[in-house]
Amino acid sequence: MSTPVIGVLALQGDVREHLAALAESGASAHPVRRAGELAEIDGLVIPGGESTTMSKLAITFGLLEPLRERIRGGLPTYGTCAGMIMLADKLLDGRDDQETLGGIDMIVRRNAYGRQNESFEAAVDFTGIQGGEVEGVFIRAPWVESVGGDVEVLATHEDHIVAVRQGHVLATSFHPELTGDHRVHRLFVDTVRNGG
Ligand code: GLN
Repeated sequence: MSTPVIGVLALQGDVREHLAALAESGASAHPVRRAGELAEIDGLVIPGGESTTMSKLAITFGLLEPLRERIRGGLPTYGTCAGMIMLADKLLDGRDDQETLGGIDMIVRRNAYGRQNESFEAAVDFTGIQGGEVEGVFIRAPWVESVGGDVEVLATHEDHIVAVRQGHVLATSFHPELTGDHRVHRLFVDTVRNGG
């Protein structure tokens, strides 16, 4: 699989930026909106945006269970910000009717950074990425409150966990797709190329 096919969940959010970052990282990148399209991809990105809307649209489009099944079945998946929220097995400060897909044994706190620090940038030391720190763009970002034993913590910012991996599923609180530095996307594309 020299050029893996990677879908970007295109219900809502910064889909275009992920498609561009993936294409520049050696993948064939396509928006995904229908359950049938899940059979055609080797990997999936869940973008940043608004997780409550994404949850609602996933239900409306009949995607919730097919996505859960595909991720459970080993589809390499990467979520940024709202995408991280979608990949949490358990959510704090979500809306009452909000659903997640799950995939990572973690508790994620939505909008964790609160009002006076809703958006900021910070250099992040990211395990497995060479060439210095990654520029983290945090926009009304979640953080990871706690993780289970099988979850690898890849990055922290001021004592909070902001990047994690569990097997074939990767998540960051921040948005590498907005920076022009594609090292995190390349790491994910390599994961997909190696089958998770
Ligand atoms: N606060 C948003 C949510 O709850 C996430 C923000 C983002 O993806 N930049 O989904």
